[in-house]
Amino acid sequence: MAEAPADQLRIPTPALTALVSDIFVAAGCDAAESGRIATHLVGANLAGHDSHGVVRVPRYVEWLEAGFVVKGQDAEVVTDGGAFAVLDGKWGFGQTVAPQAVALGIARAQQHGVCVTALRNAGHIGRVGDYAEQAIAAGLISIHFVNVAGSVLVAPFGGVERRFSTNPVSIGVPLPGKPLVLDFATSLVAEGKVLVASSGGKKLPEGALIEPDGRLSTDPHTLYGPYEAVGPRNPSNGKGAIRAFGEHKGSGLAFMCEMLAGCLTAGGTSGPVNERGRIANGMLSVFISPKHFGTQAEFERMGLVYADWIAETQPANPAEPVLLPGDPENQRRADRTAHGVPLPAETWSNILATATRLGVKSPV
Ligand code: NAD
Repeated sequence: MAEAPADQLRIPTPALTALVSDIFVAAGCDAAESGRIATHLVGANLAGHDSHGVVRVPRYVEWLEAGFVVKGQDAEVVTDGGAFAVLDGKWGFGQTVAPQAVALGIARAQQHGVCVTALRNAGHIGRVGDYAEQAIAAGLISIHFVNVAGSVLVAPFGGVERRFSTNPVSIGVPLPGKPLVLDFATSLVAEGKVLVASSGGKKLPEGALIEPDGRLSTDPHTLYGPYEAVGPRNPSNGKGAIRAFGEHKGSGLAFMCEMLAGCLTAGGTSGPVNERGRIANGMLSVFISPKHFGTQAEFERMGLVYADWIAETQPANPAEPVLLPGDPENQRRADRTAHGVPLPAETWSNILATATRLGVKSPV
């Protein structure tokens, strides 16, 4: 698969993780939380999802400084139904409160066979596939519906106005030796991909954005309005929208993320008004323990046979074999772990500018 352009910098994983962690310590987080944020963001880069990687560092720090996200919070269990629970993230860092909800869901599914967790008011939880991977590591299937309360970026099918956020969905399946992780935004591109494109990274695909007059666009200014080469991007400055993927089907899935992750968790939907003045992720997760269903051996046998059959499909292009959900991430992880994380120069300067402002020296 195509890697980042050769003119991008390659930063070794340990140095990048240490720098990001030091930035959050300097911004006031404790070492454990800073390490979790750094490991998660660098992990997203390693998986190839640069949109949810270290490009987010300046914005996360700004959110912390503005009080939009709160350091040192633990998710609070507000309803405990045994095989289901409602948790309030209390605007804590997503990288802290989402793993806590996931850990509870895993423990309860191992006890009851299934567990549904409804997490609300979580700071940005990042790459949702990370949570599916945590469930896979415990031998569980998991399904995650996510919304972003208070954020409107995406036009529903047939519309030009923003109504949804990028509302990701992830499904993880623990086949032995073949972990399957489906994980994508229901927008044609994640907002972070527009952020990456605006910082000199990978260009947006055709028709990713839509102008208020209905013209399709690939120009990040459609979302962010005017911006400087180095510095923050604010989606509220743009007049256009990101488009939902898959026409009416992706738009319908995005709508259901609002129902499940926004309404059922009671964390709130993308709109029509953002009464809280800040955004938060909601996540409805379902954890399933195959062994409790009494069919684990058959499930694994059938699953492996089927997954192999799909991977062996005659490719349309001989140079591009058919991949399973999670394959691209595994391939990128292997490459980037060995050779470092490629970053556009602008992303790197934005991170260094944040580090310098907080008195942190870069180890690179
Ligand atoms: P994407 O379009 O790159 O799709 C990724 C998914 O498609 C993965 O499951 C991958 O394995 C699979 N895939 C990719 N290429 C494939 C191929 N050739 N064959 C088979 N499968 C393939 O992802 P995206 O929509 O850009 O989302 C990026 C990330 O953004 C995700 O990790 C998502 O969780 C995250 N996100 C988070 C939020 C949030 O609020 N926290 C919001 C939106 C997106």
